[in-house]
Amino acid sequence: MKLPARFAAIPASLSITLALVAAISSTSLHAENLDASVMKSMPKLEQLYTHLHQNPELSYQEKNTSARMAKELTQLGFEVTDNFGGYGVVGIFKNGAGPVVMIRADIDGLPIIEQTGKSYASKVTTVDEHNNTVGIMHGCGHDIHMTSFIGAAEQLIKHKSDWKGTLMMVAQPAEEVGGGAKAMIKEGLFSKFPTPDSVIGLHVNAGIPAGKVGVVSGYALANVDSVDITIKGKGGHGAYPHLTIDPVVIAARTVLALQTIPSREVSPLEPNVVTVGSIHGGSKHNIISNEVKLQLTLRSYNPEVREQQIAAIKRITKGIAISAGLPDELMPEVYVHQDETIPSTYNEPQLAAKVQASIETELGKNNVVIAPPVMAGEDFGLYGRTEQNIPITLFWLGGVNPEQYQASLDSGEALPSLHSSKFAPDYPLTIRTGVRAMTRTAMDLFNQ
Ligand SMILES: [Zn+2]
Ligand SMILES: [Zn+2]
Repeated sequence: MKLPARFAAIPASLSITLALVAAISSTSLHAENLDASVMKSMPKLEQLYTHLHQNPELSYQEKNTSARMAKELTQLGFEVTDNFGGYGVVGIFKNGAGPVVMIRADIDGLPIIEQTGKSYASKVTTVDEHNNTVGIMHGCGHDIHMTSFIGAAEQLIKHKSDWKGTLMMVAQPAEEVGGGAKAMIKEGLFSKFPTPDSVIGLHVNAGIPAGKVGVVSGYALANVDSVDITIKGKGGHGAYPHLTIDPVVIAARTVLALQTIPSREVSPLEPNVVTVGSIHGGSKHNIISNEVKLQLTLRSYNPEVREQQIAAIKRITKGIAISAGLPDELMPEVYVHQDETIPSTYNEPQLAAKVQASIETELGKNNVVIAPPVMAGEDFGLYGRTEQNIPITLFWLGGVNPEQYQASLDSGEALPSLHSSKFAPDYPLTIRTGVRAMTRTAMDLFNQ
């Protein structure tokens, strides 16, 4: 999925600080169990969820979603800066001397026509850059993230007598295109606001039942790179191949040779993927074309493996072109989309262990699973890769209706994945669990 970089058109100077509003009365958690407290907020949170679900906005276009996040945080009493790094929102709540804990939620939807059949399904459509009408859907569950985020903010304010420190709530746009975290950091997220001592986030998971949480220590999500390769040749008549240098044949060799990067070049102990997702060349049966274009996605965890993949692609494509007899001026071009590069998410092990312990206290040990790392990408990883070297942890929030989960285990039929038009999390239980897990984690990080 590619979207035009409309972010550039948003003036950077729109940041405003909204009035601080002292909103809700404070109670101690000793007097009230957290789950009971969250339950009281559920009707309001469910309303917020269905509103967000029915009004999704694409990456770089999250104007109304961002405004709603700013409004919710302002009402809770946060000092709010909006339109920060695009449609980013930062809410600061200072509650005495203590650690700075940042909680992040992403806010963008995806160009998908929703097919869940739910009464609250999104019916929003838009016109893309090719003039096609596309649907918009929160197919990655960012509506769950936002609702859990507001729910946790509310609980932490409500129980502010139980902790000391600075709570930093960050609603981040444009996650799906890998642009939002980058833009907010570049705008000065860690210099214009207090520098966090830890950054936590959650992502809904389409393979874990609602009510449970998954924690990964160390690498959790992958480095992602998009690479274009243009393979050149000398075109001509399909009946006279000896008078040409056929780029289709070179491309075929190249695609196969690239498979040796993960299988023969990178250590078998370093997970990595080289996928050629697109190959285009030629126009007709009997014409040998002048070029073939390949589009690749690369995945890895270790930053050195990422460098190794890119270097190997450059070397292999060039070597095959030379072996085909192409002159210097017809060497292949390898273009790495640096603007779309996402580094891996490394859950700092000490912080991940604390997050796990907190969530186990809140939900019970049997509701916390040790999740495997995945090769998907998340720009959350960037918050841990700045010069401040801040420990980060993103945990998985189970989203599958427990009965559907069991039925899928029984039948062997796969559940709809994230980004599927049929992905419909069991939102009341998922949100309630997300708020509890996030609130308890933040509170423990303040009190450690
Ligand atoms: Zn996504
Ligand atoms: Zn997502």
